[in-house]
Amino acid sequence: MDHELDRGRGNAPHGSRIDTYVDRYAARAAGMVASEVRALFAVATRPEVVSLAGGMPYVSALPLEQVGDLVAELVARRGTVALQYGSGQGDPELREQICAVMRLEGIEASADDVVVTVGSQQAIDLITRIFIDPGDVILVEGPSYVGALSTFAAYQARVVHVAMDDHGLIPEALAQTIYALQAAGSRIKFLYTVPTHQNPTGVTLDEGRRIQVLEICRRAGVLVVEDNPYGLLGFDREPMRALRADDPEGVVYVGSFSKTLAPGFRVGWALAPHAIREKLILAMESAVLSHSTFSQLAVAQYLATQPWQEQLKAFRELYRERRDAMLDALEVYMPPGCTWTRPGGGFFVWLTLPEGLHSKAMLPRAIAQRVAFVPGTGFYADGGGAQHVRLSFCYPEPDRIREGVRRLAAVIEQELRM
Ligand code: PMP
Repeated sequence: MDHELDRGRGNAPHGSRIDTYVDRYAARAAGMVASEVRALFAVATRPEVVSLAGGMPYVSALPLEQVGDLVAELVARRGTVALQYGSGQGDPELREQICAVMRLEGIEASADDVVVTVGSQQAIDLITRIFIDPGDVILVEGPSYVGALSTFAAYQARVVHVAMDDHGLIPEALAQTIYALQAAGSRIKFLYTVPTHQNPTGVTLDEGRRIQVLEICRRAGVLVVEDNPYGLLGFDREPMRALRADDPEGVVYVGSFSKTLAPGFRVGWALAPHAIREKLILAMESAVLSHSTFSQLAVAQYLATQPWQEQLKAFRELYRERRDAMLDALEVYMPPGCTWTRPGGGFFVWLTLPEGLHSKAMLPRAIAQRVAFVPGTGFYADGGGAQHVRLSFCYPEPDRIREGVRRLAAVIEQELRM
């Protein structure tokens, strides 16, 4: 149901089959285990269950007929190019268009700095691949995006969480963590951050802190990896200025068309300083030779011929309505002791349960009551997050969201009585 949930961070291998290859795998494969909650989510796809779990964009809102037409035209007009291998760096026209998209976040880049990737997930993978030796430290927000954490685990990184609050990463906590790690001789390779409408909290790093975070990392010689798939999905204001806009040499930017267009194209990108970009292209070629020319040209064609900024506006309106439905329902139904974030964009709300409740233990009982969520434990590499729940508002209709929150509140009240 949710691509993210298949990548586990739990301990137990999923399924009943015995793995007879277990003593032959590379050490890095030990970190690759299916999520403990995966089996439960199979149940959660039943229509009677309201799923507040998946982070799937609402692609039904796209002009599907026009997309179909442009794909047909692409094959008819440029089929021999679209169906051929392409360059490792990505289609030049698309890279130009990506620069125009990034200008909306204050980034001035040239197409030469862009590497197209298979979704932003591959950009995260490639960056990790070129920087991380086993045991190297990656700093991440606490909590952080589950898909990045599983990539970091696969490369045997040591993930260290840095505290955040409703204004994003806390600069003092970042500085202290870096200081303590460096004093202990640890190699910190980069800070991975989702600064805008973060997955899973919905929180945005505020402007003042952006400058501080950049300054702290610059002084400590720590590269910043800015993962920004939700940057253009703000509901109440113009897009935030990207971190990369203020420090092109210190920040690798990771972007994606998955949320602003459609994840099925699997088109994302990395924007990196020249030397890093070169390594990324080589890593990219060794991973997949070249990405789908067809997908890239389809996205390029979409951007060239469709009113994509209007479509973006339509997505923002749609998600804003759903966010409002969720926040209103939380206000109405949640028992005392629950708190939650109030995202200004993106897909997610982060709910904190009353003291003593455990989100993962609660999940089977919630699914029995026909509501699903993602337990907070998936978003921590260190066993944290038990008191938290990620709720997504991107996919269900507002009425379903209200019903889902009502059911969840009833489950929480039940837990409090147990
Ligand atoms: N980063 C973040 C923060 C995400 O939420 C996601 C998707 N859930 C990704 C990266 C990966 O997206 P994609 O590979 O589809 O671009």
